[in-house]
Parts: sequence; C-alpha cells; structure tokens
Amino acid sequence: MARSVLITGGNRGIGLAVAQAFARQGDRVAVTHRGSGAPAGLLGVKCDVTDPPQVDAAFAEAEAAHGPVEVLVSNAGVTDDALLLRMPEERFTRVLDTNLTGAYRVCRRAVSGMLRRRWGRIVLVSSVAALSGTTGQANYAASKAGMVGLARSLARELGGRGITVNVVAPGLVMTDMARTVSAARRAEMLAGVPLGRHAEPDDVAGPVRWLASDEARYITGAVLPVDGGLGMGH
Ligand code: NDP
Repeated sequence: MARSVLITGGNRGIGLAVAQAFARQGDRVAVTHRGSGAPAGLLGVKCDVTDPPQVDAAFAEAEAAHGPVEVLVSNAGVTDDALLLRMPEERFTRVLDTNLTGAYRVCRRAVSGMLRRRWGRIVLVSSVAALSGTTGQANYAASKAGMVGLARSLARELGGRGITVNVVAPGLVMTDMARTVSAARRAEMLAGVPLGRHAEPDDVAGPVRWLASDEARYITGAVLPVDGGLGMGH
C-alpha cells in the first residue's frame, strides 16, 4: 500500500537514494531541501531543520499533497570537524542543533499525525561514529549517539501506539560528506572494513526502506549497522 513518506535532506546523497527507493515501490515521497529543489518524481519541500517554523511548514506542504506523514526518515546532517581544543562552542552546538535537535523537531512534528492513525515508522540516520567515536568529530559523534537515545526513548513511548522507531548507523558512504574526509583518513577507515569497500548511498537505502516495511513490524529501538562490518563489537 502506498504511503506518505518524508525524508529530511532527501535532495542529495544518502537521503536521495532513500527517497528514490521508497518512490520506486510506489510511495508518495516528499524530500526536504534548503534551496536546491528536488529531482523529478519527488516532492521538494523547503526546510532547514534548525528552524521550527520551516519544519512545520514543510510538513504542512507535504501533508497537503500526500496526506499525513506515515514514514519519517530523519537524515539531514552535517559535520564540522576539529580537535576538541580547536572546537569553539558554536561549532559544537551548531552540529548538535542540526543533527540531534533537528531530528527531535521532525519526530515531534511527525508523531502527532502518527498517533492519530495509530501507525507510523520512524528511521533516524545516525553513524558508526555514534558508538565508536572519531578523532576530530566530538560534536558529530555526540549528536549521532544522542540520536540513539532519542530513538530508543521514542520507541518506548510510542510502541503501544503502533509506531516503530529505529536507527541505521552507516559507515563510510560515498557522498559529498564523505568526500570532505581526507584520502588518508578514508584509506584508514577502509582498512577496518571487512567487506573491503566503502558503501554507495543505495547500500543504505535498502535497509532504511526495509525498516519501514511491514516485514520489520516487530523491530523497534534497534540500531542497525550498515557499515560493511566496520563497527563490529560496538
Ligand atoms: P550530504 O552532505 O551528501 O547531504 C547532507 C544532507 O543534509 C543534504 O540534503 C543537506 O541539505 C541536508 N542538511 C544539512 N543541514 C541541514 C539543515 N540544517 N536542514 C535541513 N537539511 C540539512 O551527506 P550524506 O548524504 O552523506 O549524509 C546523510 C546522513 O547520513 C547524515 O545525517 C550523515 O551524518 C549520515 N551519515 C553519512 C555517512 C557518510 O559516510 N556519508 C556515514 C554515516 C552517516 P542541503 O542540500 O540543503 O545542504
């Protein structure tokens, strides 16, 4: 059955691959963007997740076109790497505000409609960094670890109402974000990947789509690594 799906940061990278995976199976898909628009076949809604009124307006626009959001993928995220002593507070809180508080904002906005329908699927895109930590990414790793606590709390709060909340934790995925990582650092990460390659966005899209599917109906509060084995043991 076709569903109303909203993906933050679905205009490019992992979010776009996720959006296209849902669209391919016939869902009605809205993606947020901050000015780029959306590729054909997807409804683009403008939204900066750090701005609550924009979050509300984006949901209102998606819902007017597609009906209440039944599947939310919170994917928008940024990095701003620096070692701790070179990371002023503003760079820490800005990453938290986008990655973690942004996820809180979109979950909160989505959940009211899901509660009314007593059905919903929420998938948060975290990172292997949430569990293993990364040198130079205290802000990013903290935000991504926070998403796990957010998801698991919501899984407890909302499970009785037919809403599942899960996390995917990708490893190195070849997108604009990964291309900002130095070649040396990428090689170092790849050395720890048993599958011996980085991921393509589509490698993440399938697991996200599956977590929102009927087959995954008894899974909530899970953290699904999609990292080629990089984070094993965490
Ligand atoms: P990209 O840099 O390619 O895309 C980031 C997306 O987030 C863009 O759509 C961007 O929108 C959006 N975004 C950033 N800030 C905001 C904001 N304030 N409000 C709304 N949207 C925003 O990154 P990826 O596709 O690689 O990353 C997607 C997610 O996957 C992120 O959460 C990232 O942390 C996570 N991830 C990525 C990994 C990787 O190796 N690539 C590994 C593990 C996790 P715009 O186009 O407007 O800038």
